[in-house]
Amino acid sequence: MKLLEHEARALFEKYGIPHPRGFLIRSPGELQERIGELGERCVLKAQVDVGGRGKAGGILVADRATAEKKAAELFEREIKGVPVREILAVEYLEIRQEFYASIAIDRSTKQALILFTDQGGVDIETLAKERPDAVRKASLPLLMHDIPPFMVRDLLQSAPKEIGKILNQLYRVFCEKDALLAEINPLVVTPEGVYAADAKLIIDDNALARQGITVNRDLTEREREAEKHGFSYVELTGDIGVIGNGAGLTMATLDLIEYYEGRAANFLDVGGGADQERVMHAVRLVAADPSVRVIVVNLLGGITRCDEVAKGIISAGISQPVILRLAGTNEAEGRKILDGCGYRMMESMEQAVKAAVEAVR
Ligand code: GDP
Ligand code: MN
Repeated sequence: MKLLEHEARALFEKYGIPHPRGFLIRSPGELQERIGELGERCVLKAQVDVGGRGKAGGILVADRATAEKKAAELFEREIKGVPVREILAVEYLEIRQEFYASIAIDRSTKQALILFTDQGGVDIETLAKERPDAVRKASLPLLMHDIPPFMVRDLLQSAPKEIGKILNQLYRVFCEKDALLAEINPLVVTPEGVYAADAKLIIDDNALARQGITVNRDLTEREREAEKHGFSYVELTGDIGVIGNGAGLTMATLDLIEYYEGRAANFLDVGGGADQERVMHAVRLVAADPSVRVIVVNLLGGITRCDEVAKGIISAGISQPVILRLAGTNEAEGRKILDGCGYRMMESMEQAVKAAVEAVR
């Protein structure tokens, strides 16, 4: 889950990473009350979960006299379609130099990948493409307690020495917060010192419970509901709902939809040994997605019994048509239950998927 800037900044602060003075506001009036804390000029930063806020109009510089008005303006804006409910107001920094620092998980080497460049402030993806030599890299086994000094020197080269300390603080946040990415862009040099002028932290979804985060904001409401039931459920952009059991069979169903040139709206893996109740919840969840116009159920009965599946589908009582491929344990009983209830039972998964694609065409 991606944290908002002010949340990441609060964590960075605990690890000693210096940042500009500031506070969070929910109305222009709150800014007016505390404007004295920020000096003559300030920066107003929309707390929205989108990248590149600067370019999208989410970052405004203001002086004391105009701050309240500018904050009101920013609260009225949508940044890349996201309304602004909170603004981080911080003191304005006299930037002399901008650096970029990040630590991410490199899945291929199973190590931490540190990126550093003295061309900060810009879009790092663009820089990596246009001037790959400008981005310095280092790989670090996650068992290391600190970034070794030789590695820090190679990364920093002529950058100010204090940044070495900040890199190590960032590395500690990264490890202890189970992050997939910890990023400071820009990391700035001012006449007063070095500051993290922005803060980004993505926490591994599998570690949210350990980190005490109870709600994954990156999930849709239905994805959250699915998580409660222990279903693997992902929303896509097409119009066919997909239910399978087991990751392999579910993925194969998606591949077949692609093969027949259809588009899945979502997919749900009910897992092993699903009973009537579980199947009912699964069908209702998939059908609750308003873009779903037909549902393909592709289940292989093993421990899962086809008669339980059939009862689950009927008790879901949904409005969209359901096309099934059921095979295995109690297949005949399942067929008998579904017979005459308006469900189409196909002999193979190819036929079932093909029928679903044709149904939405
Ligand atoms: P992002 O666009 O979402 O990454 O938001 P940032 O927090 O990185 O802000 C965008 C840009 O605004 C930065 O790259 C800076 O160049 C600029 N900026 C932000 N804060 C200050 C500041 O205090 N002083 C100056 N001069 N520029 C700032
Ligand atoms: Mn930034």
